[in-house]
Amino acid sequence: TVRLRYAPSPTGHLHIGGARTALFNYLYAMHHQGTFILRIEDTDLERHVANAADEFAENLRWLGIEWQEGYQVGGSFGPYTCMERLGIYRDHVDKLVQSGRAYPCFCTEDELSAVREKQQAEGVTPHYLGTCRALAEDERAIRIERGDAYTIRFRVPEHAVSFDDLIRGALHFEPEHVGGDFVIVKSNGVPVYNFAVTVDDMLMEITHVIRGEEHISNTPRQLYLYESFGANPPIFGHVPLILGANGKKLSKRDESIVQFIDQYRELGYLPDAIFNFLALLGWSPGGEQEVMTKQELIDRFDLERVSKSGAFFDAAKLQWMNGHYLHAVDPATLLEEARALLFARGVAAPDDEWLHAFLSLVLEKVTQLTEIEGYARNLLSENVTLERDAQETLASPQAITVLECFAGVIDAECDGTPDGFKAAIRRVQDETKIKGKDLFMPIRAALMGTLHGPDLNRSLSLIGCVRCVKRVREALV
Ligand code: GLU
Repeated sequence: TVRLRYAPSPTGHLHIGGARTALFNYLYAMHHQGTFILRIEDTDLERHVANAADEFAENLRWLGIEWQEGYQVGGSFGPYTCMERLGIYRDHVDKLVQSGRAYPCFCTEDELSAVREKQQAEGVTPHYLGTCRALAEDERAIRIERGDAYTIRFRVPEHAVSFDDLIRGALHFEPEHVGGDFVIVKSNGVPVYNFAVTVDDMLMEITHVIRGEEHISNTPRQLYLYESFGANPPIFGHVPLILGANGKKLSKRDESIVQFIDQYRELGYLPDAIFNFLALLGWSPGGEQEVMTKQELIDRFDLERVSKSGAFFDAAKLQWMNGHYLHAVDPATLLEEARALLFARGVAAPDDEWLHAFLSLVLEKVTQLTEIEGYARNLLSENVTLERDAQETLASPQAITVLECFAGVIDAECDGTPDGFKAAIRRVQDETKIKGKDLFMPIRAALMGTLHGPDLNRSLSLIGCVRCVKRVREALV
């Protein structure tokens, strides 16, 4: 059975790219009735962000991506956090050092960067020259003994490596590609990503590694390491980059696109919509169907239909999809969420009856639930702000005639229902002989501050008699 993992480094928030990687691994594992594992790769101490791992876990759960084994849930291959596995890495490093496949390197950062600069100046791709490769055993012992700082480097073999990528096909790398004997343990004793990931994937019996294209160049290093442990590597699949609107790789700093899952949460996006949308970011089931349930996605997901070229991030499509899911939420749940949302934002909806009528009026106009706030404020606030075209509409003498008459009618009698307002407007027409746009627009402008918006009679009913009278009088002064 298959075992897949998502292995984020806790260096920030869960990005849409990371979430997409997690989702592909999840869908593949579930499709094949396998196991999906969450592992935290926290060996980069400098970039470590406190609580990031817990936040990843929470946001993955929110999206509906559940792991059967790993961080927070445990399992028989733990621990699932790299920094709790230092002893395991040490044993594996020792084995490589003992067999001569790895060795201590005493070169200082200054020495190494001097070499790098020289190589760059000469137009040579920077690579380690192998300075400490052939140090005598007793010299190594003496330097370690006297406390010289050292890293551990892996002795790169002279042969090439190749593998069959599930998405990109056959890939081949010459040994030069990895830049000489590479560091596997830093001078602080902590292993680097390429080493930890190999040991972990190997010991955790990972069968498939699905990850971002940016990791392709790491794969040869990992293949050499598998070989040195006498282990078979997993099957790799590198998913395409996510592209921004300009067709270039999406930059995390591009603020025109919301890129982090917690931001979508705050904006009121629905997890099912994001789940569905992310599944289609670089994969398609073929055919026209885009809206699919979690189970449908699991049933249909495969890596053959993951594209090799970049996946365009279409924010408008995500919004559309969110609207689709929003309109499918059952009314009771929606009512509750709308109530909570308005409450949290300080908008006091009169009661559930009002809320119900309100939702049936505005829901079809929004793709995110948070958008209802603006509509609710507009209907409930004490005074309206008039948009420019509303102001212009109200400037005509005809508009004043309409509003004066309307004020009189609803002041005398108002039952607050949409039908009651309909009848009131009808009376204004009968009395003033003004009809059509000339009749409706001044009322809409004065009461809602804008010429566009949802159904007029139902809106007036939600504004209520008292506020309606007040708003008309204000428009007349
Ligand atoms: N920690 C790596 C990352 O966040 C994982 C890469 C991998 O899946 O091997 O990109």
